[in-house]
Amino acid sequence: MPLLEVNNLSVHFGSRARPVRAVDGISFTVSAGEVVALVGESGSGKSATALSLARLLPEPAARFASGSIKFAGREVLTLSESEMRQLRGGRIAYVFQEPSAALNPVLSIGAQIDEALRERRRAIDRKTELFRLLRAVGLGDTERVARAYPHELSGGMQQRAVIAMALAGKPQLLVADEPTTALDVTVQAQVLNVLLDVQRTEGMGMLFITHNLGIVAGVAQRVLVMYAGQIVEAGSVEDVLQTPRHPYTKALVAAVPRLRGGSARLEGIPGAAPTATNYPTGCRFHPRCAFARERCSREEPMWESVDEQGSGVRCHFWKELS
Ligand code: SF4
Repeated sequence: MPLLEVNNLSVHFGSRARPVRAVDGISFTVSAGEVVALVGESGSGKSATALSLARLLPEPAARFASGSIKFAGREVLTLSESEMRQLRGGRIAYVFQEPSAALNPVLSIGAQIDEALRERRRAIDRKTELFRLLRAVGLGDTERVARAYPHELSGGMQQRAVIAMALAGKPQLLVADEPTTALDVTVQAQVLNVLLDVQRTEGMGMLFITHNLGIVAGVAQRVLVMYAGQIVEAGSVEDVLQTPRHPYTKALVAAVPRLRGGSARLEGIPGAAPTATNYPTGCRFHPRCAFARERCSREEPMWESVDEQGSGVRCHFWKELS
């Protein structure tokens, strides 16, 4: 049984008469010990998807219009608020893009991690655990870091501290939403390595959200490509990067030079992604698709599974284009 099972999930904002369909009928799974990447441009619905998993979106402004989210076999959408509090920050933990937003500027790093340990009421020696967590994320000078305030640390060290806080509840699932995007390029790889190290050591499942297909290869085993609120392609990282099926994925791959043997010629994707208030008719990608035909603007393509592991594609002509 997968650790996380999302089935036909739709998340809407605004009025029922004119809903903003931020997430529109998506399905995927994440197993224990597995890293699944969720890739897409800004506004594609990936962050709304991430926040939905622990119901962090403000309800009732955000509504679960359809579907289910099962975590460790339990339906998340019907849990009470007190059950949700236990789940959040405990069994499901988050690391967001901006570490400074996750840290309290007037509390030392040690105090904040200790608070996270206390909240999660684990019967442990908290001081030993605090230092273990700091070492696990590569903050070896544990005494000094524990006494430091967030502004005394670099962005990379702050993000490591945030990862340590996320680990305090021994999560089974870590949701990392663009965790390295706000960091200096040289620090990004270090923080990514820390994240993957702790994911492997702790045996967690991880949903890794990024707009950058280029970093997916070194991070994940499977990838979900999201466009305009829908998953348009899913598969193993190797398959999706080497032989993408959906024209949008093909365009994303073409825009990453090292995935295509260092070709100097980059192909951008023309046009802009639609917003959730005005999805095009038919295939939502058709105004930007180099392979669009008349049928594409008229008829919405359905999801077609290509194996039993969740791989599939949403395009009328993917077989011809493969
Ligand atoms: Fe392009 Fe048509 Fe496929 Fe959409 S259905 S991705 S417009 S070819």
